[in-house]
This record gives sequence, C-alpha cells and structure tokens, in this order.
Amino acid sequence: MNTEWADADRLADLREALVVAGDRASVAVEAPYTGEQIASIPDGTEADAAAAYERARDAQAEWAERPVAERVAVLDRYAERVLDARDSLLDLAQLETGKSRRDAVEEVLDVAATASHYANVAPDLLESERRGGAVPGLTKTTVHRHPVGVVGVVSPWNYPITLAVSDALPALAAGNAVVLKPAEQTTHTALLARRLLVDAGLPPDLLCVVPGEGARAGAAVVDRADYVCFTGSTAAGREVAAQAGRNLVDCSLELGGKNPLLVLDDADPEAAAEGAARACFANAGQLCVSTERLYVHDAVYEDFRDAFVGEVRDRRLGAGFDYAADVGSLQSAAQLRKTARHVTDAVERGASVLAGGRERSDLGPYFHEPTILADVTPEMAVHDEETFGPVVSLYRVESADEAVARANDSDYGLNASVWTEDTDRGERVARRVQCGTVNVNEGYVATWASLDAPMGGVGDSGIGRRHGDDGLLKYTESQTVAVQRGPRIDTGPLPTGLWARAMTTGTRLLSKLPGWAR
Ligand code: NAD
Repeated sequence: MNTEWADADRLADLREALVVAGDRASVAVEAPYTGEQIASIPDGTEADAAAAYERARDAQAEWAERPVAERVAVLDRYAERVLDARDSLLDLAQLETGKSRRDAVEEVLDVAATASHYANVAPDLLESERRGGAVPGLTKTTVHRHPVGVVGVVSPWNYPITLAVSDALPALAAGNAVVLKPAEQTTHTALLARRLLVDAGLPPDLLCVVPGEGARAGAAVVDRADYVCFTGSTAAGREVAAQAGRNLVDCSLELGGKNPLLVLDDADPEAAAEGAARACFANAGQLCVSTERLYVHDAVYEDFRDAFVGEVRDRRLGAGFDYAADVGSLQSAAQLRKTARHVTDAVERGASVLAGGRERSDLGPYFHEPTILADVTPEMAVHDEETFGPVVSLYRVESADEAVARANDSDYGLNASVWTEDTDRGERVARRVQCGTVNVNEGYVATWASLDAPMGGVGDSGIGRRHGDDGLLKYTESQTVAVQRGPRIDTGPLPTGLWARAMTTGTRLLSKLPGWAR
C-alpha cells in the first residue's frame, strides 16, 4: 500500500507511547482497503487503566496550577502542528479506516478548528464570575470553575482523528488530564494525534492512551474517570451510563442516529439532491450525523429523485491515498455485513433499489455501493434501525407537517436537515424537528462546524453536548463562594415571630428589585 505507514516498525514506534505493562493478549488491526493485518495492539487490562490514571492524576495536579493562558497556548500550537502534519494524519487514518481522503481531510480541519476555538474561548469561560448574592450589597457571591480531575474519553473508529482528540482538547484547556481508550481498529491514528499534542508542548502524562477491547479496557477506563465522555453505539452508551451512575460521576454520551432530511415543496430539487448525496454518503454513511431517511414533498418528488439518483450514480468509489475517490471502503467485515443485511432484507420484503445495492469486492473486501431504497415499509430493518453505512430510504410526503411528524417518529434524535427556498420557513420547521442539531439547506456540516454552538442528541442519540460552552464547562465543577457582610441571615437577637414578619416584608420588597435573582 502506498503510504509511509504501511511499515510495521513505524506503527510499533507509535505504540511505544501506550500505557501497557507486561504481556497482554493482542487485538489484530487490519487495513480495510485490502483486509490485510497491518499490526496488533495490546488488549489493555484493569491494571493498565489503573496505571494510566495514576500517571494522569500526578500530572493533572501540576497542570491545573498553570495559568489558563499557558494551557491554551498548547492548543494554539497544536492547531498549527495538525495542519502541518495533515498528509501524515490522512494516510494513517485512511490506512486504519479505509475512508476516502476527501472524508479524512474534514477531520484534520475539524481538529485544528476545535483547538483554536477552545484556545480562544477557554480563558473567558474559566474566569471566576460574580453572581447575584442572597442580600444585595451584603452578600458577595462568586462562582469558580475547577477541573473535575481526570476525564475518561472512549472513542469510536469512524472519525479516528476528530473523535479521539477533539473532546480531549477542552478538557485539557480546563485543567484536566485525560485517559483515552480509542477504538481498537484505529489506535495508531489516535497515537499519532496525541504525539502531535505532546510535540506542541503537552506534558505526556496528561493524555494517556489505554488500548484494547471496549468490554474490558473501555470499561476499566470508564470506571476510574471523574467524568466520562463516550462516543459510540447506543448499546455501549447504556452500559457506560450505568457504570457512571454507579460511580456517581457525570457523563456525556454521543450515540447513534437515524437522521432525517426533509425536502419541502418550495425546495430547489437539484440543490437539495446535491446536498443530500453528501449528507447520506460522506464517510460511506459511517457518520453519526449522516442522513438515512429522506422525506420529500410530492410537489418536487420526481425532480428530486431523478437528480438524487444521478448524483449518487456519479460518485466515484475507490481505494487510494489521493483525492480521486468520493467514497471509500466500509471499515470492517461487520460493517459490510450489516449494510448488506439491511439492503437484502428490504429488497426481500418489497423495497426497490433506485441506485447502488451491491457489494463491490472488485475494489476491496468491504466496499459497498451508495444505495437508495424506495418503497420501504415499517417491517423492514432499515426503516428504524441505524445502518451506519451507505444506505438511504426515500419516502414521499404530502406536506411539511407530515414530513416533520415522520421525521420525529424515531427513538433517535441526533441530526436533521431541512431544504427550502424560504429560510425563515426552514428555521420554523427546523425548530419542530426533535433533534439536537438541525441544518437548513445543508446536511450536517453547518451545525457540526459551528463550534461555538452545542452539538449532541436527544432520546437514544445520547445525553450531554460537545462543542460550544457546554463542551468545556462539562469538564468543570462549579464552586460557589459567598461572603456575608453585615447582619447574618438568621433570626439574630429578634424573636422568631418578629423575624419572620420582617423577612416576609423584606422578601416582598427584594423580589420587586430588578436583577435581584441575579
Ligand atoms: P461501539 O459502541 O461499539 O464502540 C465505541 C467505543 O466504545 C470503542 O472504543 C469501543 O471499544 C468502546 N466500547 C464498547 N463497549 C464498551 C463498554 N461496555 N464500555 C466502555 N467502552 C466500550 O461503537 P462503534 O461501532 O465503534 O461506532 C459506531 C457507533 O457510534 C454508531 O452507532 C454511531 O452512530 C456512533 N457514533 C456516534 C457519534 C456521535 O457523535 N453521536 C459519533 C461517531 C459514532
């Protein structure tokens, strides 16, 4: 394979940074473009997670004492390093995931933008803040933000650069250390992203990587965390939430989706088709926010369908470490199996295939064509289950109300998209869709790349948010310090009855003061 990383010694060199002691079982890592094994990683244990937290806790105590400006300077330098190392990162991410280079480059840009964003906003967010006191003028109340300690991050393989480090960056800016358990298939990519962070000046023990399977290494990392940031499937997210609950620590869970895209009667069908093709098939559909359900108004249905089929048929599939392909491979045999199962099940139950529909083993073992299904009915698995692959179902609707109702008829609520020529109407419709992010005249990038705004899901798509102020403040404990001057807020020398009457009058007067509650 034509990449600098198809070299066992270079991958072994990256693994030197892993926190693993002694002999461990190994987990095979393969290159999805060919199906060949390229390396194996150690399967981390409880002892490895314990060692990682010990190191991380020691490093965190000193890091938290550093001025915020010093901490965010590392993030600023990191943004530069990531952009400088773009091609190396892309090669390794492609090697481990089989994605197209076009899809991989979004990750590099995202990480650099996230680092710069939190470098800019962290100093203000972390500043101690005066708040309204109990008795105006007499109670001086201040809220301080302390790091929670060590954050456990568990990440999936589909965006191996972004999801391994982007959630760690605000945690580090807030003065925490991080223990990361990356997906077993993409551990080397996570290690390269971490190496660049250390090159940018991060003390190495502030980001410790524990490799291995989710059920053991992942669970061991979750069990010791002061805060858990998990990205992955809804099933694993429930386990993680239960574990966090038992330990009484907070968590954010960024989980799956069955994301709808609504084409309203006044939409430009060509523009909507072009946007929908990107929204459905970016990263070969292995994207938490990608579209799997299309609700198209009767008035534009035929025009949209024909333009969409054309867009999808034009997409170039291929394996390669250049920008020639639009769509790459699926990441694993399991991903291909699930995709093929959804298509076969739907076709056997009467769905029609408007484009794609076939595995493409001529290109590589896990390739599957971008696929459009019509005539999909509720008993088909693809109707409600997340495929997390390149398959979308097209439905005709009679009105915007029907589109909204059907979009909302899902256990998930991650991301949605609305297409219309009237953007005011688009915003109104968007607010009725029960998803954490909704894009108007765009598939997913507009909300995801609005780094200043929160991103996350409702229902089975998770709890908590990344990005925005929430994406950093969730890694802090707020502490309220109130200094009372003058008379204390209790009965003092007064008889209790008199005190109660005085306080009743006082409370009536105070509640009329503008801003008293603040
Ligand atoms: P997964 O849940 O199997 O694995 C994700 C990570 O969790 C891996 O590192 C895995 O080893 C670990 N893990 C698994 N079980 C665990 C457990 N019990 N305790 C601790 N860690 C555990 O998911 P996947 O198949 O790798 O990723 C695909 C899923 O992730 C899809 O459902 C997709 O929608 C979702 N996803 C969501 C987002 C988002 O931001 N909402 C982003 C990417 C992927």
